[in-house]
Amino acid sequence: MTRSNPDRIIVVGGGAAGLMAARELARARRHVTILEARDRCGGRIDPLPVSDFGYPAEGGAEFIHGKAPVTHGLLREAGLSLQPIQGTSWTAEDGKFSRRASQNPHESELQRALAELKVDLSLAEFLTSHFSHPRYEQMRRTIERMVEGYDAADPAKISVAALREEWMDGGRSAQARVAGGYGALIEFLAKACRNHGADIRFGSVVKAVEIVDGQTVIRCADGSSHQSDCTILTAPIPVLSEIDLPPSARVRAAAVADIGFGNVIKILLCFQTRWWIETPLKAADLTFLISEEQIPVWWTQNPNPQPVLTGWFGGPKTAGLAALDEKELIEAGLGSLAKIFGLDPRRLTERMVAARAINWANDPFARGAYSYATPATRAAQLTLAKPADGIIFFAGEALYRGADMGTVEAALDNGIETARAILRR
Ligand SMILES: Cc1cc2nc3c(=O)[nH]c(=O)nc-3n(C[C@H](O)[C@H](O)[C@H](O)COP(=O)(O)OP(=O)(O)OC[C@H]3O[C@@H](n4cnc5c(N)ncnc54)[C@H](O)[C@@H]3O)c2cc1C
Repeated sequence: MTRSNPDRIIVVGGGAAGLMAARELARARRHVTILEARDRCGGRIDPLPVSDFGYPAEGGAEFIHGKAPVTHGLLREAGLSLQPIQGTSWTAEDGKFSRRASQNPHESELQRALAELKVDLSLAEFLTSHFSHPRYEQMRRTIERMVEGYDAADPAKISVAALREEWMDGGRSAQARVAGGYGALIEFLAKACRNHGADIRFGSVVKAVEIVDGQTVIRCADGSSHQSDCTILTAPIPVLSEIDLPPSARVRAAAVADIGFGNVIKILLCFQTRWWIETPLKAADLTFLISEEQIPVWWTQNPNPQPVLTGWFGGPKTAGLAALDEKELIEAGLGSLAKIFGLDPRRLTERMVAARAINWANDPFARGAYSYATPATRAAQLTLAKPADGIIFFAGEALYRGADMGTVEAALDNGIETARAILRR
C-alpha cells in the first residue's frame, strides 16, 4: 500500500530530526503538521531559561562533535557562528591534578587488534578476548569508563566495530559549541517550518497510530485525532514502545531492541565566581576535568566567562542514582566537586547562585539520553528504514547509519534523509 505522492504528512516530534524533516517537506509544498508532546520544540536540545543562569545553559545537547557537515551547513544558513572549545583538560586523582594526556602504553596493540577485527563483538567481549591479562587492567578500565561516560553505553552491549569507526573519526571529542546555544538552531528551524506553512501543535502526546483506508490516523492523549497520507515517528526509541502501532509497524519497531540507548545525568552549578581558578589547580583555561568521583566528569564554559561547572554522569551506572530527586542530585554534584577540590561542601553551597540537575531517564518523552550501536544495530536500522505499510516512517538520531549516532548531527541528517525518501516516492 504505497501512496506515490503524499500530500498531508504528520511528523511526530519537534526535535532536531522532526523539524529538519518537516522543513524539507513543507518547502516541497506538502501540508505538514508537527505533533509535539512538550510545550516547546527541541526535544533533547533543551536550553534552560536565561533567568536560571543568565544565558541559555544547555540541559541537553551542548557540543558539536566531529565533522558534522549538516550541522555546519545549517549554522551557515541560520547565520549562527561556532565557538571552538579552547583550554586545557585535567585529570583529578587522589587529590592531585594532572594535565590530561591519553598515554596508553598498549596503544599500538589496541590499534592492531581493532584493525584485525573481522567479526563484530561487544566491547566487553573484545577486551576479554584480546586484553584479559592483568597488565591491561588500567587500559580496560579507562576504555570502559570513556565508553560509559561519552557514549552513555553499556560496555557489554556496545559494538566494537562502531567504536573503531567513532575513534577513527576523532571520537566523541567536543569540538565546538553553537554561539548562543543549540536553541538558536532549533528556533531557526521552527521558524522556517512555520514560514513554509507547517503547523506545530504543542502538548500533543501521541498515543496511537492506526491505518484506516490507506491513511494514518494519529490519536493523542487529549482525545484529538489527526489524519494524514503518511506519518514520520521521531520519538526516541524507548518512547516508541509506548505508542500503539498497527501490526506491520509494530513488527518493524521491535528492531529497536537491537539498538543501544544510554542515559545521562547532567548537573549544572552556577557560582558567584570561578572559584576553581583560585584552587591549587589555578587553571584559568580549565575545560574538562575527569575524576573518579560519583559525578566523574566536569567542564567549564571556557572561553566564555560564566562561573558555571557542568557535571556529567553517563551509562548504565546512572541507574544507581535513579531514586534521587533534583535537589539530591545537586547535592551529589556538590559532594563530588568538594572531594575533587578538597573543599567543604557547605562552602561550595554558599557560593552557589543557581543549579539544575536533569536525569534524562526520568524524562517521559526521552526515557534516556541517546543511542549507540550494538553488533546488531546496523541490521535493525535497515529494518526500521523501510516504511511500515509504505506510510509509517521511523526517524531520529537512532536511525542514523554513520559513525556519530546519538548526536544532533545524526538527528538532522536522518530527518532530511527521511523527508527526501518520502519526496522521491
Ligand atoms: C544530556 C544530553 C546531552 C547531549 N549532548 C549532546 C552533545 O553535546 N552533542 C550532540 O550532538 N548531541 C548530544 N546529545 C544528543 C542529542 O541531543 C540527540 O541525539 C538529538 O537531539 C536527538 O534529536 P531527535 O530529533 O532524534 O530526538 P528528540 O530531540 O528526542 O526529539 C523527539 C521529539 O519527540 C517528542 N515526543 C516524544 N514522545 C512523543 C509522543 N508520544 N508524542 C509526541 N511527541 C513526542 C519529544 O518531546 C521530542 O521533542 C545529548 C543528549 C542528552 C540527553
